[in-house]
Amino acid sequence: MNLHEYQGKELLASYGVAIQKGKVASTLEEAVSAYETIKAESGSDFAVVKAQIHAGGRGKGGGVKLAKNLEDLKLHSSNILGMMLKTPQTPGGLDGEGKLVRKVLIAEDTYVPDFDSCDEFYVSILMDRERKQNVIIYSTEGGMNIEEVAEETPELVHKEYIDAHIGLQGFQARKVAFNLGLTGKAFKEMTKFISKLYKAFVGSDASLFEINPVIKTGHDDIIAVDAKVTLDDNALFRHPDLAEMRDTTEEDPTEVEAKGYGLNYVNLDGNVGCMVNGAGLAMATMDIIKLSGGSPANFLDVGGTADAARVEQAFRIILRDDNVKAILINIFGGIVRCDRVAQGVVDAYKNMGNIKVPIIVRLQGTNADIAKTIIDESGLEVHSAILLQEAADIVKKVIS
Ligand code: GDP
Ligand code: MN
Repeated sequence: MNLHEYQGKELLASYGVAIQKGKVASTLEEAVSAYETIKAESGSDFAVVKAQIHAGGRGKGGGVKLAKNLEDLKLHSSNILGMMLKTPQTPGGLDGEGKLVRKVLIAEDTYVPDFDSCDEFYVSILMDRERKQNVIIYSTEGGMNIEEVAEETPELVHKEYIDAHIGLQGFQARKVAFNLGLTGKAFKEMTKFISKLYKAFVGSDASLFEINPVIKTGHDDIIAVDAKVTLDDNALFRHPDLAEMRDTTEEDPTEVEAKGYGLNYVNLDGNVGCMVNGAGLAMATMDIIKLSGGSPANFLDVGGTADAARVEQAFRIILRDDNVKAILINIFGGIVRCDRVAQGVVDAYKNMGNIKVPIIVRLQGTNADIAKTIIDESGLEVHSAILLQEAADIVKKVIS
């Protein structure tokens, strides 16, 4: 689950990480009142207006603006609120349609005393799956173009691996500060910053923290100016307060709906819809579709109870994708009986009435033979198979 910048910063602040302070606003009035509060706290007329969407690169797309006074603030807030913000990371990139901005963060101007006296660093934490360790990735080249830095000058991107059993050690935090070229107060502040950031990462069961930029101000303070946070969905039950931060308006609407039915659905860009029970079998099914010359239109794990109602929901969700030319149902009847699934498929098919694409059903396991008979005798445009290769061959025939 992804958090908005303002939520990520709240999380960081709760672990004592120094952040760029701000208030979120959904309307121009709220933006003005947030500005008054921020102004009173910071003692400065300057503030930044930052679009809150689940995508980075907002600065490049015009979603981050510095306001020097109330008039500026009103102008930027009214421009950004409600805009379709295009960034390199929104769907379709800069040529896409962008994402609707529903909220802005009104934040203090942290670049004090002025922009030129500040340094921007890059800091992220994530899990390195190959090493089975968390890693802090950091660079002196913070700001807006870390992908380019990694591409062109990889030697400027450093990595610090952390042993899960002993956690982040003091010397490691100091090494980060040292490699960032800091001394004196800034060195100490960065060491603290890294330690607290790592505590927040582990404590919130996050899978990604990306803080770009972390700045060193002209007063040698170290502050998180941006926060991209991804939390591990499987650990959210331990964090009801964080789970509440979910913003479904930012997620793929079909995926959100599927979740509501207990279906594990991920939209892909191929032409063969898949309905499978079990994530491993779903992956194997996607492989065999690929090997047969098709490409999967989705990942869909219907879970253990593949009854008619669930199969029908799954059909509806798969068919919403216009690219789907065929649907492959691949169910292993271990706990669920194949004949019940087959009946579910036939009932759902009849209920929906308007399915125009061929359906290939491969049922294996308990009562697979009865299931095949049910499908074959249903009189519907449904092809049955018992072997996965058989099913794949039919898929190949119907899509070519
Ligand atoms: P992103 O473009 O989505 O990564 O959004 P960021 O939060 O990283 O902001 C983009 C850029 O806006 C930063 O790299 C800064 O250059 C600028 N910016 C952000 N906050 C401030 C601020 O408080 N003052 C000034 N002057 N610039 C800021
Ligand atoms: Mn950023």
